[in-house]
This record gives sequence, structure tokens and C-alpha cells, in this order.
Amino acid sequence: MKGVVIKKKAYDNHSPWIHQLEKVRKPRDILKKDIKTDMAIVGAGIAGICTAYFILRDTKNKVVVVEANKVAHGATGHNAGQIVSYFEKPFSKIVEEYGLELAARGQEEILSGWELLEQVYSESEIKTYFSQFIGYAGCSTLKQLNSHLENKYLRNKANISIEKVFVSEKAPFLKEIPKKYDGLYELVPHKKVLEILETKSSLYHAALASKKGCLNSALFCEELISYLLYKYKDRISLYEFTPIDKVELYGDHVKLSTRKGKIINGKKVVLCTNGFQKLKINNKSGKNIDTSFHDFILGVVGYMAAYISPQTGTKSNAISYFPKSNNDASDAYFYLTKREFSDKMESGNLISVGGPEVTLDNTIEYIRDKPYFEKHEKKIDKFLKKNYIHAPKKINYKYHWHGLMGYTKSELRAIGPHPYNKNLLYNLGCNGVGILPSIYGGYKIARFITGIKMPKSIFDVGV
Ligand SMILES: Cc1cc2nc3c(=O)[nH]c(=O)nc-3n(C[C@H](O)[C@H](O)[C@H](O)COP(=O)(O)OP(=O)(O)OC[C@H]3O[C@@H](n4cnc5c(N)ncnc54)[C@H](O)[C@@H]3O)c2cc1C
Repeated sequence: MKGVVIKKKAYDNHSPWIHQLEKVRKPRDILKKDIKTDMAIVGAGIAGICTAYFILRDTKNKVVVVEANKVAHGATGHNAGQIVSYFEKPFSKIVEEYGLELAARGQEEILSGWELLEQVYSESEIKTYFSQFIGYAGCSTLKQLNSHLENKYLRNKANISIEKVFVSEKAPFLKEIPKKYDGLYELVPHKKVLEILETKSSLYHAALASKKGCLNSALFCEELISYLLYKYKDRISLYEFTPIDKVELYGDHVKLSTRKGKIINGKKVVLCTNGFQKLKINNKSGKNIDTSFHDFILGVVGYMAAYISPQTGTKSNAISYFPKSNNDASDAYFYLTKREFSDKMESGNLISVGGPEVTLDNTIEYIRDKPYFEKHEKKIDKFLKKNYIHAPKKINYKYHWHGLMGYTKSELRAIGPHPYNKNLLYNLGCNGVGILPSIYGGYKIARFITGIKMPKSIFDVGV
């Protein structure tokens, strides 16, 4: 209608994780002069902070961490905060592309992230709440279930321990489950599947168990960087609000230029930037990297919303739901976590849900402060009311947020030196699931830096 302005309801991008951040550090440093270091780390999300942690712990190198914004305000402060060790890309596809041995090694590498996280906790005495439990994923179609059973079948073949799968005795596709998966699942009453998945939707016919955890990864990073700045005060500097515009790579050193024209000279640079926005790479000692780097990552924006239920004392939980519209395990799905949550105003269980996604084409820049439109909340609300047994009739969402996920071409995290210039290393590419891979990535980067020869891996940086 002419002259009528339709206003879309929108919210600020505000996550519960950033809301809970307590600023324990002194005022933030911005780089104001040229400096020298051994290792320059670009990006202070969980990948950058964990990379700094392991380099400081396992080598004698000096480290400079530079962040365009503030520590942990990227994806690390805008995720679902669910710790899982699976890949978003089906394990069977990884086996198809790399073979069973390499795929299995990759899976073991990510699984080792659990132990590394425990090490970080015990060494640095971090207090940020971190829960571990068995969580679930619900399948509604035979195709989804078969895709997951194939992943389990291959993991089992590679001697990786696998967790339980419960299939409803009343599943309409029971007779069509291939014989080769016998022994990988257990038949149970349909009621049990629905109970495990905390759902009222009888469309779910199977529940897959896996080890999961809940963590506010932003609070974790803030606490860890405070510890590093104290413990290694002579070897680490952190500069926030210091975007890097250009990285020049030479045979024996690297040179980083900030947007304000300051220079960081280092031996090596580790990009922990998640995406690649506004960063130029100039390889002065080998083939061009810039173009392939910019083609390398695709941006996907994930949308989430959360409410606080007044109930307390229940255990943390994390459940993924694959609705009927989802064709295989790699398609979009909804993911829910429940955890105890408190701030100065209220406490209870925080129920947070994600699922809606938008892919950015290479010409569109992700803007963190862009509003969150109501349509994403509506999708989440519809999902919750149809599926989640504990969802109230009217849900008052307290938090709405979005975050950027960088997808590499291989859909796997890139960890290690670039083949065209070994002074450039990556620990980037969240590919949907990035907490454990970032921690493992940091550990592995420290190994590369100490000169340890690492076996071939699915996470090697390809060209
Ligand atoms: C909605 C959503 C839900 C998710 N849920 C989960 C989940 O449940 N479980 C899970 O494991 N993973 C999840 N992830 C992924 C996970 O959050 C990320 O993989 C992880 O936080 C990535 O950490 P990072 O350090 O690589 O990236 P980020 O946290 O994004 O950090 C990168 C940092 O680099 C900085 N930077 C970029 N360019 C420059 C530059 N040129 N100069 C200086 N600094 C720069 C950015 O400002 C940013 O702070 C989710 C992600 C999203 C968006």
C-alpha cells in the first residue's frame, strides 16, 4: 500500500554469554607503536586464546594477540555454547574423501580436545562453569537414521568407541533399516525415545546418545586470557580494537599492518580470524595466497534465541532435533541446550535454541551489530512449541543473537602451516562446530611451532 511503512520488529544482537562476561581485566590496550614478537596471533576468540595458551605453555616464544574488536566477542560470544566432538559434515563423507584411517585419526584428534580442555581447567584453575553429560539427537526419518548409523558403523570399524542409539519399536521404517547396522542400535518403546528427547512430537523415532557439554566460551576466554596475562607477563601482549589490514609473508619473517598503520614484525603469524574480512595477504616469498584465502571461507550466519525458565536444579542437557524436512545429517537442524544460569537480576534454567541460518555471499560483509529480525525468533518459537515438552504457552525470549560461522571448502577446520609459506599458519573455519576443534587446533599449532613433525591430517591446510 502506498505511503504505508511496515516496520519490522528487531532486537539488538545480545547473547547470554556476552551478558555474563565480567570485565576483570584492566582497561584494554590498543596498539599505538610498532612492535616485534615471535608469534603474532590474529583474532582473540577461543581459537586465538587457546593457540596463545598452548604456545606459551609448550614453547619459549613471545606472543602478541591482536583483536579487531574485544576478546571473545566474535562467534565465541555468539554461539550455542554446546561442546561436542562430532563434525557437522557426516563422518561417512570424510571417510569417502580421505579414507578410513585419516578420517579416524581426525576424529581422535577432536576427541582429544576433551582432555585438553580438562588440562586447561586444571592448569589455569579456571572457574567458568563447564558441565559434561550425555546429550541426544533425535531423528524423524529413515534417511537421517541411516546416515547416523553409517557414521557409527564406520567409527566402530575404526575402533573408535561409539555411543548408544535407541530406536522406537514402533518406528514405521523399522524393517527397512539395513542388516549391516544390527547391533549398533537398541529397540525401545516409543515413549522412551520421546522422553529422552524431551519432546511431545511423536514424529521422532530414534535418539542418538553422545557425550556433550555446556560452556560459556566467552567467559572461558576472558578468564583464560587474564590468567595468561598474569602467568606469562613477560611473554604475552594483547591488543584489542586493533584490526589487522595486511599480512606480508617473507622467507624468514612476517609483517602485519594495523588499520592505523602500526607494524608488528614477527617470526610467524597464526590466523584465528574465523572469516577473512578485510584482510590482505601478500606472500613475498612464494605463490600468491590472497585469492585462494578469500575463496577459502564461506560465511554462514546462525540465529539463536533464549529464555529463562524459573525451574532450577535440573541437570544440563543438549538435544539436537532433525525434523522431517531435514534430508540428511548435514542439513539445517535445531539445537537446544538447558543449563543453570544466573545474573544480577534472575536465575533459573537458560533454554537456548538455534537453527535458522543465512548464507552470505562473498560480497556481503557480516556486521555484528546488525539487528536481529523477528522472523528468526518466530521460527525458533514455532519449533519449540511443536517439539519441546517443557516449552511454556507464551515464551518471553530474553536474549536474541546471531554469529558468524566460517565454512571452509572442505567443511573441516584448517589447522597448520600454509603450503606456500610456512610462516603463515591457520587455526580457523568453524564449520558449525568449533569449540573442541579450536582447542585442539591451538595445541597442534604449538606442536608445529616446536618443529614436531605431524602426521598427515584431514585438518591440513590445502590449496
Ligand atoms: C550461532 C552459532 C552457534 C554455534 N554453536 C556452536 C556449538 O554449540 N558448539 C560448537 O562447538 N561450536 C559452535 N559454534 C561455532 C563456534 O562458536 C566457533 O567455531 C568458535 O567460537 C570459533 O572461534 P574462533 O576463535 O575461531 O572465531 P571467533 O570467536 O569468531 O574469533 C575470531 C576473532 O577474530 C577477529 N578478527 C577477524 N579478523 C580480524 C582482523 N583482520 N584483525 C584482527 N582481528 C580479527 C574477530 O573480531 C573475532 O573476535 C557456533 C557458532 C555460531 C555462530
